[in-house]
Amino acid sequence: MNRKLLLSFAYCIAFVVFQGCDDDDDDVTTTTTAAEWDYENADAWGTIGYTDCAGKVQSPINIDTETTIKSTLPELQTAYKSSTWGVVDNGHTIQVNLKQSNKMVLNGTTYKVMQFHFHHKSEHTINGSAYDMEMHIVHQDTVTSNLVVVGIFLKEGDTNTFLEKIWSAIPSEQNKEVVSADGIDLVNALPSDLKYYTYTGSLTTPPCTQGIDWVVLKEPMEISAGQIEKFSSIHENNARPTQPLNNRQVIEGI
Ligand SMILES: [Zn+2]
Repeated sequence: MNRKLLLSFAYCIAFVVFQGCDDDDDDVTTTTTAAEWDYENADAWGTIGYTDCAGKVQSPINIDTETTIKSTLPELQTAYKSSTWGVVDNGHTIQVNLKQSNKMVLNGTTYKVMQFHFHHKSEHTINGSAYDMEMHIVHQDTVTSNLVVVGIFLKEGDTNTFLEKIWSAIPSEQNKEVVSADGIDLVNALPSDLKYYTYTGSLTTPPCTQGIDWVVLKEPMEISAGQIEKFSSIHENNARPTQPLNNRQVIEGI
């Protein structure tokens, strides 16, 4: 079976759940719902209607510390605070939505926290090695709508107390948000050292929108083996493979 047929067959399986199976390629490319993409076919996202995924400025990337440009970077100024929250399994990750406004300031611009979520293994790699997991805090400039995603590596070690409440509230049913009355404070998700790598890339899931500023923290946080196991039992692989750098420069804060 050639690759195209194989992909067509895979979509057919996805479609049969929602609208019945149709072997017409036109239907495949014009009907785009979140259910159509998955991590097994990550290399094909650009050909199934998410054209930006085949762009030249994609994320994640491998960060080669031999070639990063070492520089003093603007301080990441978080103004996070305790907030109530909801957690949802959207079929691709576990996502947390804060119910009160949380902000951070970077380079004079104020960004609002939109949501945060997790990947197993990490999506960014350092010198070719992945961490056990990666947390992404998605921030948006409320004036320009520009996005800044802060990535935090998680490596196996002690129990991550910030994640405990979230992990115990993960709903068993997809796309159903469980809201907690208890507060969590994103400050507790951050390492003590906020130095970071930064580069311009994209969302790491379809539609892979480009022009995203990435802030990947250098210091990892710890997470217990049991906490990793709990996540990976739900989403075993939700890490997009690293994408070509295509002459982009990664700046490393020192
Ligand atoms: Zn992410």
